Amino acid sequence: MIHEVFGLGIVATIPIVAFAKEIKERIRQEQNGRCDLCNIETNLEIHHKIPESRGGSSRRENGVGLCTRDHEQWDAISLTSNLAYPGVEYRPIKRRKKRRRR
Ligand SMILES: [Zn+2]
Repeated sequence: MIHEVFGLGIVATIPIVAFAKEIKERIRQEQNGRCDLCNIETNLEIHHKIPESRGGSSRRENGVGLCTRDHEQWDAISLTSNLAYPGVEYRPIKRRKKRRRR
Protein backbone atom coordinates (compact mmCIF):
# COMPACT_ATOMS: atom_id res chain seq x y z
CA MET A 1 0.00 0.00 0.00
CA ILE A 2 1.26 3.42 -0.88
CA HIS A 3 0.62 6.17 1.60
CA GLU A 4 1.35 9.80 1.35
CA VAL A 5 2.78 11.40 4.43
CA PHE A 6 1.02 14.71 4.50
CA GLY A 7 3.04 17.84 4.68
CA LEU A 8 6.31 16.18 3.88
CA GLY A 9 5.53 15.13 0.36
CA ILE A 10 7.11 11.79 1.02
CA VAL A 11 5.65 8.68 -0.50
CA ALA A 12 6.53 5.62 1.49
CA THR A 13 5.38 2.08 1.83
CA ILE A 14 3.60 1.70 5.11
CA PRO A 15 1.68 -1.40 6.05
CA ILE A 16 -1.94 -0.72 6.96
CA VAL A 17 -2.36 -1.82 10.54
CA ALA A 18 -5.45 -0.05 11.75
CA PHE A 19 -8.91 0.99 10.74
CA ALA A 20 -9.21 4.29 8.94
CA LYS A 21 -10.71 7.11 10.96
CA GLU A 22 -13.76 7.25 8.69
CA ILE A 23 -14.43 3.56 9.16
CA LYS A 24 -14.23 3.88 12.94
CA GLU A 25 -16.64 6.78 12.88
CA ARG A 26 -19.03 4.91 10.62
CA ILE A 27 -19.06 1.88 12.90
CA ARG A 28 -19.65 4.05 15.98
CA GLN A 29 -22.56 5.71 14.25
CA GLU A 30 -24.06 2.47 12.97
CA GLN A 31 -23.95 0.98 16.45
CA ASN A 32 -25.24 4.18 18.06
CA GLY A 33 -22.19 4.17 20.30
CA ARG A 34 -23.18 0.88 21.89
CA CYS A 35 -20.93 -2.10 22.47
CA ASP A 36 -21.79 -4.98 20.16
CA LEU A 37 -21.49 -7.48 22.99
CA CYS A 38 -22.78 -5.91 26.20
CA ASN A 39 -24.72 -3.02 24.67
CA ILE A 40 -23.42 -0.35 27.03
CA GLU A 41 -23.08 3.13 25.62
CA THR A 42 -19.44 4.13 25.60
CA ASN A 43 -16.61 5.44 23.48
CA LEU A 44 -16.34 2.42 21.23
CA GLU A 45 -13.05 0.85 20.33
CA ILE A 46 -12.93 -0.85 16.98
CA HIS A 47 -12.07 -4.50 17.15
CA HIS A 48 -10.84 -6.73 14.33
CA LYS A 49 -13.29 -9.62 14.18
CA ILE A 50 -10.65 -11.64 12.42
CA PRO A 51 -7.30 -10.52 13.82
CA GLU A 52 -4.81 -9.07 11.39
CA SER A 53 -2.38 -11.78 12.39
CA ARG A 54 -4.85 -14.25 10.93
CA GLY A 55 -5.28 -12.31 7.75
CA GLY A 56 -8.21 -10.14 8.82
CA SER A 57 -8.57 -6.88 6.93
CA SER A 58 -9.04 -3.37 8.24
CA ARG A 59 -12.13 -2.93 6.14
CA ARG A 60 -15.59 -2.13 7.40
CA GLU A 61 -16.83 -5.72 7.35
CA ASN A 62 -14.07 -6.88 9.67
CA GLY A 63 -14.65 -4.17 12.25
CA VAL A 64 -16.95 -4.05 15.21
CA GLY A 65 -17.33 -1.51 18.00
CA LEU A 66 -16.67 -2.78 21.50
CA CYS A 67 -16.30 -1.30 24.97
CA THR A 68 -12.80 -1.32 26.45
CA ARG A 69 -13.49 -4.37 28.59
CA ASP A 70 -14.88 -6.52 25.77
CA HIS A 71 -12.21 -5.33 23.38
CA GLU A 72 -9.43 -6.44 25.70
CA GLN A 73 -11.18 -9.69 26.35
CA TRP A 74 -11.73 -10.52 22.69
CA ASP A 75 -8.26 -9.48 21.68
CA ALA A 76 -6.88 -11.89 24.23
CA ILE A 77 -9.22 -14.65 23.16
CA SER A 78 -8.72 -14.25 19.45
CA LEU A 79 -4.95 -14.13 19.71
CA THR A 80 -4.58 -17.13 21.94
CA SER A 81 -7.30 -19.50 20.83
CA ASN A 82 -9.28 -20.68 17.89
CA LEU A 83 -12.49 -19.23 19.21
CA ALA A 84 -14.01 -16.88 16.69
CA TYR A 85 -15.74 -13.61 17.43
CA PRO A 86 -19.49 -14.29 17.63
CA GLY A 87 -20.84 -14.84 14.15
CA VAL A 88 -17.44 -15.03 12.51
CA GLU A 89 -15.88 -18.10 11.12
CA TYR A 90 -12.13 -18.19 11.17
CA ARG A 91 -10.44 -18.86 7.93
CA PRO A 92 -6.83 -19.78 8.37
CA ILE A 93 -4.48 -17.74 6.22
CA LYS A 94 -2.70 -20.75 4.92
CA ARG A 95 -4.44 -23.99 4.55
CA ARG A 96 -2.31 -26.86 3.53
CA LYS A 97 -3.87 -29.20 1.12
CA LYS A 98 -3.48 -32.76 2.02
CA ARG A 99 -1.59 -34.51 -0.63
CA ARG A 100 -2.61 -37.89 -1.56
CA ARG A 101 0.22 -40.20 -2.18
CA ARG A 102 -0.04 -42.68 -4.90
ZN1 LIG B 1 -18.97 -4.41 26.03
